[in-house]
Amino acid sequence: MDCIFCKVAKGEVQATVVQQNDRYLAFRDINPQAPQHLLVIPKTHMATVNDATDAGHLGGLLLFARDVARAQGVGDRGYRLVINTNGEGGQTVFHLHVHVLGGRAMQWPPG
Ligand code: AMP
Ligand code: ZN
Repeated sequence: MDCIFCKVAKGEVQATVVQQNDRYLAFRDINPQAPQHLLVIPKTHMATVNDATDAGHLGGLLLFARDVARAQGVGDRGYRLVINTNGEGGQTVFHLHVHVLGGRAMQWPPG
């Protein structure tokens, strides 16, 4: 399957990896929208959050994203986790990912 984030997970496409374990990987977004902008992915392919069936696996992704925010020094200041889903959600890469955005005050509502 031709999936860019599967390739990142396998090390076939270069990325700045900041943290990983056997299930999840965190790397820097190539087009950062905040001083800290990481992407957290499951290492196994799933196109969108609509496809998630395993609550433990999906919950683990969120805990991992929380840990990444902490490790990047924004855990207490505050940060935003975003999962864009499908067309109107603004998803452009169809491998589930959580954006971890931090290092500046976020606006609401989002665009
Ligand atoms: P989304 O619009 O939610 O699907 O987000 C996709 C994100 O992936 C965007 O913020 C892109 O900048 C980012 N992105 C795309 N390709 C790469 C890559 N090879 N390495 C790091 N980030 C990427
Ligand atoms: Zn994939």
